[in-house]
Amino acid sequence: MNMNVKTGIINESEIFKKINSSCDKNFQNDRNYIEEIFAKAKELNGITPEQVLSLLQLKDNDLIGELYNTAKEVKDTIYGKRIVLFAPLYISNICYNECLYCAFRSSNTNLHRKKLSQKEIITETKHLINDGHKRLLLVAAEDNSEQGLDYMLESIASVYSVTTDKGSIRRINVNMAPLSMEGFKKLGECKIGTYQIFQETYHQETYKQNHLRGHKSNYQYRLQAMDRALAGGIHDLGMGILFGLYDYRFEILALLKHVEYLEKNFAVGPHTLSVPRIEPAFGSEVSMNPPYPVSDEIFKKIIAVLRLAVPYTGLILSTRESGTLRKDALDLGISQISAGSKTNPGGYTSNVEEKEEQFSLSDKRSILEVIKDIVSDGYIPSFCTGCYRMGRVGADFMELAKPGLIHKHCTPNAMFTFKEYLEDFADNDLKFRGEKVISEIIESNIMGESLTFKNNLKIKLQEIANGTRDIYY
Ligand code: SAM
Ligand code: SF4
Repeated sequence: MNMNVKTGIINESEIFKKINSSCDKNFQNDRNYIEEIFAKAKELNGITPEQVLSLLQLKDNDLIGELYNTAKEVKDTIYGKRIVLFAPLYISNICYNECLYCAFRSSNTNLHRKKLSQKEIITETKHLINDGHKRLLLVAAEDNSEQGLDYMLESIASVYSVTTDKGSIRRINVNMAPLSMEGFKKLGECKIGTYQIFQETYHQETYKQNHLRGHKSNYQYRLQAMDRALAGGIHDLGMGILFGLYDYRFEILALLKHVEYLEKNFAVGPHTLSVPRIEPAFGSEVSMNPPYPVSDEIFKKIIAVLRLAVPYTGLILSTRESGTLRKDALDLGISQISAGSKTNPGGYTSNVEEKEEQFSLSDKRSILEVIKDIVSDGYIPSFCTGCYRMGRVGADFMELAKPGLIHKHCTPNAMFTFKEYLEDFADNDLKFRGEKVISEIIESNIMGESLTFKNNLKIKLQEIANGTRDIYY
């Protein structure tokens, strides 16, 4: 373990010191200390790194149960009952980097390479719109930085150009290699929502061992991507860690340090945090045997603790995880999920070709099945794109999310977009159950008791039933 590496944002020795001192303390029997952390977390201002470490190490089942309940309460206070849905659209798996955990890495010569043409992107988009999607995450491997950007810009324009009788894509988020500030400027100009990129591991030595070639082998360039993105005019950032590469306690403290750094310097924290765990990837030894595997039990604690530490952020869980775990995770703090996903370029409209996939997916349910389950679990599915289209982005979004005011927009917008889904895509069973959920939410007073407001919501829902689309606050 190199204890002296400093990156400017991440001070490794400081993080190790915190971990070691937390291991030395025996707080497991100190119920009051843990209860105080829960009380602090409910104030929605986050918790300290020391408190994060204490919660991650909890062993007592009652206290772990209380941790989960607190995370659920915090999420409900900030976001209400809505779960945002999206689909990834992989546009290219041609990559010149060498990330040992990924099937797309350049030396994986057995992988079938594919870069979708704009025509193919349009075909995939039509398919996703006709499945009910309104929000896409465009994902690309890194073939060559500059060309890669032009290709991404063209692809974004292609996706936005598609309209079918079921609607159009209203928000595109992007996961692609980090750009220069000028590159981010261009990306920001073409109406993207969140720019997402994962540091994978914040531990420099581990980073070096797992990223052998290409631009991505430059740890600092990737770490500073968020600074360049914000300076280039991108408002909403998605961050994440690839769990399994290194000690999760180190990764979480480092991620929180990165968040703190962004908040301090730019007054903006992450719009979303993602928590991917390494999944088996075609031709990748590391992905079959991750060096620091994270068990389901620890993974659930990680989700709950992140919800308490960064209460305002959208927490994303992808179809890498099983349906059962994803169901549990909704009660622990997850607020956004992908559904009906494919990770091979062209995968929505061609037969799945595993030799083109990035990693294997555990949750293979269709979007309709996922939605039915969300509703059964007491949540309301949302395809909302209201904030981004009303300009509630960056610091403005944070101002509403931090004190827990954003759900006043999230809940009605979730109802409107879910109502659209019920009208355009649902079978009779879901229609019946969905209408019931919507009425219950209106009558439950969670958006206030004002009769005028409730009537206004009902009028708008009726307008949607009559054919109006794209209503949002
Ligand atoms: N090429 C860009 C990059 O690396 O940032 C963006 C696309 S890459 C396909 C998106 C993410 O997939 C990576 O950031 C990584 O965290 C994740 N990933 C790669 N291999 C994975 C695996 N075996 N299991 C789970 N996630 C993986
Ligand atoms: Fe390429 Fe991204 Fe996969 Fe690395 S993680 S090999 S950069 S697609």
